[in-house]
Amino acid sequence: GPQDRAVFARRESAVRGYCRRFDTVFTSARGSLMRDESGREYIDFLAGCAALNYGHNEPAMKEALLRHIGADGLAMGLDLHSAAKRDFLERFETLILQPRGLPHRVQFTGPTGTNAVEAALKLARKVTGRHNVIAFTNGYHGVTMGALATTGNRYNRMGLPLSGVTRVPFDGYHGEGLDTSALLAQLLEDPSGGVDAPAAILLETVQGEGGLNAASAAWVQRIALLARQHGALLIIDDVQAGCGRTGPFFSFDGMGVVPDLVVMSKSLSGFGLPMALVLVHPDHDRWQPAEHNGTFRGNTHAFVTAAAALDTYWREPGFTDEIARRAALVHAHLERIAREVPGARLKGRGMMQGLDVLGGDLAARVCTLAFERGLIIETSGAHDQVLKVLAPLNTPLPLLEQGLALLHGAVADAVA
Ligand code: PMP
Repeated sequence: GPQDRAVFARRESAVRGYCRRFDTVFTSARGSLMRDESGREYIDFLAGCAALNYGHNEPAMKEALLRHIGADGLAMGLDLHSAAKRDFLERFETLILQPRGLPHRVQFTGPTGTNAVEAALKLARKVTGRHNVIAFTNGYHGVTMGALATTGNRYNRMGLPLSGVTRVPFDGYHGEGLDTSALLAQLLEDPSGGVDAPAAILLETVQGEGGLNAASAAWVQRIALLARQHGALLIIDDVQAGCGRTGPFFSFDGMGVVPDLVVMSKSLSGFGLPMALVLVHPDHDRWQPAEHNGTFRGNTHAFVTAAAALDTYWREPGFTDEIARRAALVHAHLERIAREVPGARLKGRGMMQGLDVLGGDLAARVCTLAFERGLIIETSGAHDQVLKVLAPLNTPLPLLEQGLALLHGAVADAVA
């Protein structure tokens, strides 16, 4: 019956995270609102962990998908050429790659961010003939063995023996003035046991799971230079920060770096359908057939909605400004909310901002209170100490204000 959750407890949810925190049964959603079986509405500040940057059931994408299915459009095509894939590739080329002067090719991988990270790491090792990878503390890159090895969080790594990765402190430690790129330079240049010559340097420009640590453009530039000087590939993981989350399409737009490889997933399909890819600079396109296979490379329905997402949001330059307006609103509210918690700090960039409310369980209690009041919001960070505002990028301003007001109330009451 309605709100019956016994089967989840019996068969699934006991070992899962989100569903325990948001203990209800959802039935439908539109835009930035989700609805549960009892008819209750929730403002969504989680957005499928940035897989729903354009909101739930975005009308243009929904219509494109319904039209495609109605016409018996190909649903499953392995990696055969399909009209849907061509539509996506052409739009990605003309709307995203060409205007930025990016020569990269598109490699579709298995449909998760994790799989695309694996492909990038494999390719970097193949191209360079080297094994070691440089990654950063608090980075998150996925859950399979290779991607997991590059992930900073000890809890995610489960104490498994994973090798071949050197982790260096990330930038953005609250402006403490420590230039960790200088530290990396020293490690790379030190023959007395610094680090082995790396195949790749892998980074997020804003660490999504790691607590919304935002690297400065200058730091990213210095890391890119180090990668070039030391013959390593620069891999930017834009799985969470890409597709407009920080404002522009790529999180590194305007930073003056050209990554060798870019990893994307999450909001690529725009509709919540699984899709992932690696952008490969032509200099490094050394794959042989079947070296990185996967049955579900390139979900055809995802191509359809992904093309519609590019058409709808990235054909005109205005969307980045729309995102910036919302980001400014989020920032202004978070500044006020921060005053409720002594020592709280604003984190992140664009529509990937949050509030570090320090350790303990304060952030978790805020999420629970917010949920009871109709707001879905999650935490991130090594100690789950950062409240993470991840609303869809097109959330109507009044709804965004409403959600931020709910968050403010939840923080104030959790502190009291
Ligand atoms: N990289 C980043 C930056 C991510 O945020 C995530 C997912 N949170 C991943 C990789 C892994 O993606 P997926 O969960 O789709 O495997």
